[in-house]
Amino acid sequence: KQVILLGAGAREHALAEKLTRDGATVHVLPGNAGIPNSHPEVNPLDFPALQAYCEQVGARLIVVGPEAPLAAGVADYFADSGIKVFGPVRAAAMLESSKVWSKEFMRRHGVATALAWQFRSDSVSAARAKAAELGGHVVVKYDGLAAGKGVYVCSSMEEVDLALTDLQAQHTGWFSFLLEEKLSGPEISIIGVTDGNRIRLLAPSQDHKQLLAGDQGPNTGGMGAYCPVPFADDNVLAAIRRDIIDPTLHGLQKEQFRFCGFLYFGIMLTPSGPKLLEYNVRLGDPEAEVLLPALDSSLLELMEATLNGTLAQQTVRQKPGYFVGVVLASGGYPAAKFPTGFPISGLDSLPAHVQAYHGATRRDEAGQLVTNGGRVLVLTAQGHDLELAVSRAYEACARVSFQDAYFRPDIAQRPSPMGEW
Ligand code: ATP
Repeated sequence: KQVILLGAGAREHALAEKLTRDGATVHVLPGNAGIPNSHPEVNPLDFPALQAYCEQVGARLIVVGPEAPLAAGVADYFADSGIKVFGPVRAAAMLESSKVWSKEFMRRHGVATALAWQFRSDSVSAARAKAAELGGHVVVKYDGLAAGKGVYVCSSMEEVDLALTDLQAQHTGWFSFLLEEKLSGPEISIIGVTDGNRIRLLAPSQDHKQLLAGDQGPNTGGMGAYCPVPFADDNVLAAIRRDIIDPTLHGLQKEQFRFCGFLYFGIMLTPSGPKLLEYNVRLGDPEAEVLLPALDSSLLELMEATLNGTLAQQTVRQKPGYFVGVVLASGGYPAAKFPTGFPISGLDSLPAHVQAYHGATRRDEAGQLVTNGGRVLVLTAQGHDLELAVSRAYEACARVSFQDAYFRPDIAQRPSPMGEW
């Protein structure tokens, strides 16, 4: 079975590997140096070229990794073409691409979330006044896609002022933004495969967005993840279903969205129950790099079931144990500029219980594998308990090297938050 996979990062490497294990022949557009059968010559945003490639190889299924092709309407383009797209249509992708729209959707359908107020670029002083009422304990969120850089978590009016100044400096012209009440509590990622009516959940996972140990420093695309999350027990998951997932599915049905794909709920477990911070309409990265090796069921079957309307007959089995993924990043990331092109060594010495997923790698003129961006590799290890998985992941990190390599030393080692919740 021929499958086209769109994307170029470690998430797509994990998807390609899982779908291959499930029996598919996977063509990755554009892919990267570490993903077999990558095709950099095809631009995944050039839909006629994509269609021609599908016809050339006889593919009837396109799986979308990142958000950009969804926001550009890849699912709409192929709607009546006989080629199925695993990923939502553009209107539903707004759950991720517009924070204002997504907050309104949550409100319309009673999804538990933080209180929020909407402002426009010409009403910054009104936003400042609202923030002052809340003592500066607010989160400022730019409406559109900002690659993780549009969210400012503030604890004082000084921080609010810096955030509002930066927001105006980053975005010229007219824009909208949200001011949200600042919540507190542990965060958890819940990701499912949905056909818009039903959802089948993968294991609960946790990301580590900040660059430095102890959740300090600037935000990144994610420095590591693990699954399952020990404190996400049946009670926690039942509350999440009742307050967040079920109202979301009712909303999708009521508004008649065709939504086949991954749906991601970024959740904070607050003292007054779980609250939804954001939707993503795709797999998280680096969550994918632990969730997919942990998934025992066939992902290909789950995807086909969502597209054929047979998801009700599917169950999801997880492999036993824990999966921990640590990102090896380039020194200097996430700054705008940092050196790359450094040779990578040690990948061939990894043991069988470790997977190396390529994010930003390429081959240089001499055929040597070199760094090619911020998040270079994700090393994922499995263990029968979390401690073993952690120690195996860090043993792997010690074996792989390139100049100025950086990784967070504390992935999957947050103190247990239970008791607070
Ligand atoms: P991503 O990079 O995951 O797409 P994003 O930039 O779209 O993120 P959010 O997920 O909405 O933005 O927020 C980023 C982070 O900011 C969250 O993971 C959380 O730590 C923090 N955050 C967001 N909203 C709140 C809130 N209301 N209260 C406290 N912290 C928040």
